[in-house]
Amino acid sequence: MRERGIRQTYDIAIIGCGPAGLAAALLLNTDSHAVTLFERFNEPRPLGSGLMLQPSGMAVLDAMGLAHETAARGARIDALFGMQEHGRTALDAPYAKLGKGETFGIGIHRASLFGVLYEKVQAAGIAIRTGHEVRDTELESAARRLLFADGSRSDRFDLVIDASGWASRIEFGNNHGLLPFGALWATIPVEPGDPHAKNLLEQRYRRASQMAGVLPIGSRGGGLPQEVAFFWSLRRKDHGRWCTTPIDRWKADVLELWPEIDFLLDRISSHEDLTFARYAHRSAHRPYRERLVRIGDAWHSASPQLGQGANMALLDAWSLAAGLREGDCLRQGLRLSSGWRRDHVDLYQAVTYAFTPLFQSDNALWPWLRDRIVAPLSRLGPVARLQANLMSGLFGFPLPILGLDLPDYSAIAASMAARAASPDQSYSPCTRQTSSPAAS
Ligand SMILES: Cc1cc2nc3c(=O)[nH]c(=O)nc-3n(C[C@H](O)[C@H](O)[C@H](O)COP(=O)(O)OP(=O)(O)OC[C@H]3O[C@@H](n4cnc5c(N)ncnc54)[C@H](O)[C@@H]3O)c2cc1C
Repeated sequence: MRERGIRQTYDIAIIGCGPAGLAAALLLNTDSHAVTLFERFNEPRPLGSGLMLQPSGMAVLDAMGLAHETAARGARIDALFGMQEHGRTALDAPYAKLGKGETFGIGIHRASLFGVLYEKVQAAGIAIRTGHEVRDTELESAARRLLFADGSRSDRFDLVIDASGWASRIEFGNNHGLLPFGALWATIPVEPGDPHAKNLLEQRYRRASQMAGVLPIGSRGGGLPQEVAFFWSLRRKDHGRWCTTPIDRWKADVLELWPEIDFLLDRISSHEDLTFARYAHRSAHRPYRERLVRIGDAWHSASPQLGQGANMALLDAWSLAAGLREGDCLRQGLRLSSGWRRDHVDLYQAVTYAFTPLFQSDNALWPWLRDRIVAPLSRLGPVARLQANLMSGLFGFPLPILGLDLPDYSAIAASMAARAASPDQSYSPCTRQTSSPAAS
């Protein structure tokens, strides 16, 4: 541990180059801590397709000076819209209902978010040790070491941050609740004339046992086309059978639910174009112990139904850096930072746990409740506002306690519009069915 001025700085190891690890590395480096990132891959890279950056996560990126650059690589999303197979609206959640002026989500390819953070980490000269798979850590008097899969050990660190995601191998009393449903994901290029909704995350449901979704995710740059993330929910136990089902038979199944996306499915040629993602619902009650702290999915993970994970990871990273700044000692810093995040984490763990079966389950009651009770209720003013708060990541007021504010979305919209012809703020779903959502 080094003393600089009145604030203590630490030698810190971070496990994982996901959003949590990279954001923490940048923030802690800015605060003069000596940071080393450890990543299992030889070349750090993001896995998977698209995700949603919510106003909560954008508040962190904005405070880091990265909101505009990130938004420029993504797509503006004005609402979540879901319809069940017979045309009944099951979900209509415009960000406009937040009542905070112009606000929206950003659909973005994981590689784009990774790119923004990773480029900054490299520019800051932060040490990155790739090809280092951490299998555990070891406390050694007043320090902690990393134990690697090849049997070697790291130097001593004042603090180890576990940002290795939901499958973290570093255990301390949490559960590994793998959820019965996962999803197939594909990144599909689109053209300006394609008939999908350019500013919606759209979903179609057959009860709650099948779900297809399309999320615009912008362009990864470098002359690459605009893309969408396509997803199809699948039970974990059915994945093996899906792998041996002819791809055209699966496409026919999807098209029966959502015929209008035939142009997207035409661009999927084989099973290899899709990746199967599993989800776990788990959290550690206390995310820190001596010289070790968990952030992001390594602390708490859930199904991505509410689209919060990466945003929560960014909030955790921000909170951790602030806690180490404010705390008189390392332990107090960790206690402060996890205390600032705990209520928000617990709230979203509970809400996601309760909501996921409405969209992914084999039970017939949940989708019935979703379509007949939850959807009509959510059109009422205060409930619509609550729903918008929930999906924005702002339920439970996570920002004020961290000294964060919403970004200036008008300025972000202006810079996105300057980059490309901005989509109209009204939205119309990709459908020929009769039901149409309210745009505000
Ligand atoms: C299909 C899908 C859709 C999603 N959609 C959304 C969304 O719309 N919005 C949203 O906010 N979130 C979404 N999420 C969740 C989001 O991806 C995660 O919450 C987020 O990536 C967590 O960030 P993280 O940095 O904590 O972990 P991760 O992104 O998982 O990063 C962990 C890093 O640690 C490395 N690592 C792992 N183990 C080791 C080890 N033993 N040693 C060294 N390195 C290791 C990994 O290679 C990786 O680089 C989605 C998730 C999935 C699967």
